[in-house]
Amino acid sequence: MSLERRAQGLPLSGGMALGRVCLFDDHRHQEVPAYAIEPSRIDDEILRLEEALQITTRQLEDIRTHVHERMGTAEAGIFSAQKMIVEDPQISREMREHIRAELSNAEHAIHRVLDAYESRLGALDDEYIRERASDVGEIRRRLLNNLANTVPGLSCAGRCRRGRNRVVVAEELTPSLTISMNTDEVLAFVTERGGINSHAAILARALGIPAVSGIRNIHSSVACGTDILVNGDTGEVIISPAPETLAACSCAIGRARRAEAMDPVPQLKVLANITLCGEAGEACEMRAEGIGLYRTEFEFISSGEILREEEQCARYTSVVEAMNGRVTTFRMLDAGGDKPLPELRIPQEENPALGLRGSRLLLRYPDLFRDQARAIARASQAGPVRVMFPMVVDVQQFCRLRDAFKEYAADIRTGTVEFGVMFEVPSAAIQADEIFREAEFASVGTNDLTQYLFAVDRDNALVADDYSSDHPVFWALMRTLASAARKKNRPLSVCGELAGMPDMVKKLMACGIRSVSCSPRAIPLIRKAVTE
Ligand code: PEP
Ligand code: MG
Repeated sequence: MSLERRAQGLPLSGGMALGRVCLFDDHRHQEVPAYAIEPSRIDDEILRLEEALQITTRQLEDIRTHVHERMGTAEAGIFSAQKMIVEDPQISREMREHIRAELSNAEHAIHRVLDAYESRLGALDDEYIRERASDVGEIRRRLLNNLANTVPGLSCAGRCRRGRNRVVVAEELTPSLTISMNTDEVLAFVTERGGINSHAAILARALGIPAVSGIRNIHSSVACGTDILVNGDTGEVIISPAPETLAACSCAIGRARRAEAMDPVPQLKVLANITLCGEAGEACEMRAEGIGLYRTEFEFISSGEILREEEQCARYTSVVEAMNGRVTTFRMLDAGGDKPLPELRIPQEENPALGLRGSRLLLRYPDLFRDQARAIARASQAGPVRVMFPMVVDVQQFCRLRDAFKEYAADIRTGTVEFGVMFEVPSAAIQADEIFREAEFASVGTNDLTQYLFAVDRDNALVADDYSSDHPVFWALMRTLASAARKKNRPLSVCGELAGMPDMVKKLMACGIRSVSCSPRAIPLIRKAVTE
């Protein structure tokens, strides 16, 4: 009897994949692999454990110092306490003993020992100590992440190791989860939640990984290792596919292929969106005419820490150098909302989409702002730079941001630096004429602009049918923005996902748009669409 089950979801990123399920969630890798090791590998496994403990201790010390300098002793104390747990000789002894006695892998030992520790803390009367129990989850996540990067001393062929050659199945993919995976080795993503313009979907498309969301209860109803067929073009997911099903679609299996690079076209300037500095190379391969959107917050999310000026400067400079005279548009840290930076320890918000995020967050954390401003100012010595502020609400806020940036970087001899806004919030779009009096350029973030214009969550698969930019109100707004830019002779680009859709690009051009920025993979498709 065939066990095949079919489910229809929302297609997020094209291509078809066949693989085995790997269950993920935000707090822990569900299948923290529990496997027996050979007695001869005990020392190797203990070595892995110790390496992960050391790396984690170093990271926590760095964060502690940084937080101490920037925020104060009380906030830094949280990280001192976490570090003490990691350094606790009893805890590490228990982990080593677990490996020896149970012949278990290091991941499992960490899991077991920290679970027991968390329960012990949670049962205590002292409220302060009980609260520390929640830190244990963070410590476990950090340790397991660091462990995943250590060379395992044993062959894990056939086992689930953080998504390697697997279809990652999650309730929801957060940006931090997506970016922490080695996506070279992920075959596909399947989630219960997540809209077409969620950041995970954007990343999946940029990487050419098939992805489907909106498959209800999949995370709790399949086991790790189950065969799964994912069709990112139609949104169909087939669990335990029957041999006939596999035979019927075997030739279609594979990642969406990358189109051949194409030379720039005179009708439309096409720049690249990147998330990490390493992607500048692909942007150049695809002959991008510059970087139109560097989502700098992903550098922070991927490293799991607040990057300081020096670390940021190295990454940013590498991008500006790679672009070799073509402009690099840095989007200032757009954290908060759907891209939380846990290291900032922002209090829980009822409605983060309308909360402490984007430029509002930058203004609230001047040290964070200062470090990034200085790093970008220094990177501008290597080539032309644009500084773009996210989620700007009006011209006054833009001026405050620009002036603060200049003040923070006042002692740095910069190259060419221009300041602009991202039109993502309707109030700023309505004020376009005034904004173009001050801003030297702008770019339309259609993902958020659509979300806030129509009050429809970009992340929510349930309202995916209502999430569309292709609406008369949206196009009227685009025409208004293009005309405001033309009147002041300011460059205007579009950098939301719409800019990478070949069937939308002519509509954008009809509104007067002459520049777009999209994922490097989409660049040739867009150029082809405008020349057809
Ligand atoms: C946008 O909102 O359109 C945008 C490009 O920014 P992000 O998708 O990173 O929010
Ligand atoms: Mg946005």
